[in-house]
Amino acid sequence: MKQQDKSTIVVVGAGIAGLTAALRLSKSNHQVHVIEQNWMVGGCAGTYLRKHHKYESGATTLVGLEDYMPLGMVMRETGLKLNPICLEVPMQIHFPGREVLNRHESLDQWIDEAESFFKVKQAGFWRQAYGLADTVWRASTKYLDFPPANLQEACSAALKFRPAEWQVLLKAFESTRRWMQKSHLPTQGLFMDFVNAQLLITAQSDAENTNAAFGAAALAYPLFPNYYLPGGLGKLSEAMVDLATERGVRFHLRTPVQQISKSPKGFLIQAGDLTLQASQVVSAIPINNLIDLLGEKPKGIRDVRTESQLWSAFQTSFSVNQKLPFSALHHQIHLENPIPKLPGKTLFVSFSHPDDRERSPDGNLVVSVSSHLGLQDPWESDKKAEIESEILKVLKERGFLTAEPDYVHSAAVGSWKKWTGRAFGAVGGYPQTKGLLPWKMNNAFSGISGLWLAGDTVYPGQGIPGAALSGWIAAQRCLK
Ligand SMILES: Cc1cc2nc3c(=O)[nH]c(=O)nc-3n(C[C@H](O)[C@H](O)[C@H](O)COP(=O)(O)OP(=O)(O)OC[C@H]3O[C@@H](n4cnc5c(N)ncnc54)[C@H](O)[C@@H]3O)c2cc1C
Repeated sequence: MKQQDKSTIVVVGAGIAGLTAALRLSKSNHQVHVIEQNWMVGGCAGTYLRKHHKYESGATTLVGLEDYMPLGMVMRETGLKLNPICLEVPMQIHFPGREVLNRHESLDQWIDEAESFFKVKQAGFWRQAYGLADTVWRASTKYLDFPPANLQEACSAALKFRPAEWQVLLKAFESTRRWMQKSHLPTQGLFMDFVNAQLLITAQSDAENTNAAFGAAALAYPLFPNYYLPGGLGKLSEAMVDLATERGVRFHLRTPVQQISKSPKGFLIQAGDLTLQASQVVSAIPINNLIDLLGEKPKGIRDVRTESQLWSAFQTSFSVNQKLPFSALHHQIHLENPIPKLPGKTLFVSFSHPDDRERSPDGNLVVSVSSHLGLQDPWESDKKAEIESEILKVLKERGFLTAEPDYVHSAAVGSWKKWTGRAFGAVGGYPQTKGLLPWKMNNAFSGISGLWLAGDTVYPGQGIPGAALSGWIAAQRCLK
């Protein structure tokens, strides 16, 4: 065992949550170690090189870089530098009749587009959604002690809350569907399909089951600046590693943690040949994985979901020698006929930027297509080829694929288990269902002194900005 002083902090997992925590901790006097099971960092938001092209491991869209948003805060506080391109139209939605809906970033432009497309007045709803989402984003980086640790913190947070923030809290008690009804919006037909599809990709749930506070943030996602990182989203984790390494953080790749146990000086972390003694640990892996490593559920963990309550993802990737077929990089396709095993009835398609020669030196487009995969029934790996071929068929029929794709490869449950080590191959965090009020969500407190929780299965939830914020909060708590 290596000799260390008691100020060692170990971060388990080098996804966005773990890397953010490590960056925050690198500003302290502690020796920080990050242990990662994969050969590369980034987890569900990494970029890998295959056959001269750079593919996204999972996430393709990026928000949250503004000063008052989680990644903006990380950049401001740590000096992290990125080279983002702001997208003019963050996303296009393609309906079965081939109609295309542009999700303009400008609120006024989007309201005009949505009203003329759905033939329903909806300005009030979208203005309210944008206002709530804006308040959620601003509050997320303002109240870094949220959710409160004790009554004293709860009282101090309550005294600081502004009226707009109380409104968000009240919306947490109402479903998105109920909020839509009160706003005189249709809760069936094309508009509802659109809302449910947007909620599924952002909140991992639907209008009936997502509370209106989370629903507003999810529906307004394209109304905030969306960015593309040349070279791939993995540039974010790479930049975090470079900066953290410069500041003395030590990374251990290809080193799966097998056990975390309490020891007289804090914790003993066992990962193959590596054994580390740490005064504190930030767990930046899913809650289900942490429970396995500890051998028991710590009492501070409030919410543990089972396999059947979680989602996995089916993702097909390839490169293709063709022009960008539509004006935006990101698209949601509503399917005419469902593809077996893909319950979401939509595909999410992301193209690399046509000028991004770092991802594609030969000028091909690099494409990711993903969809939710249910974990209620056992995954049948022999279905992979069939689903992949159905996806390619849809892309050809709907005008997304105009040439023969190269190096088509797909990821399903087994790939996620291997790539990210995540329990059950479940990705995308815990669905933000109705009963999930902030004080019922898992947060940085594990209930074991010195063991802090981060990642997309704890507050504030999934997505790159959520994971980053959770990592930041866990590190702050650790340093307190
Ligand atoms: C297909 C797909 C599309 C998505 N699209 C978007 C999107 O467009 N925009 C967006 O914002 N979000 C998106 N997301 C969600 C987003 O990628 C994740 O919520 C976020 O990246 C999770 O970060 P994390 O750090 O919590 O977890 P992870 O990324 O899972 O990181 C956990 C890390 O821990 C490591 N690890 C696990 N077990 C161990 C162990 N025992 N020992 C050591 N290391 C271990 C893993 O290898 C991994 O690197 C998408 C996710 C998927 C799967």
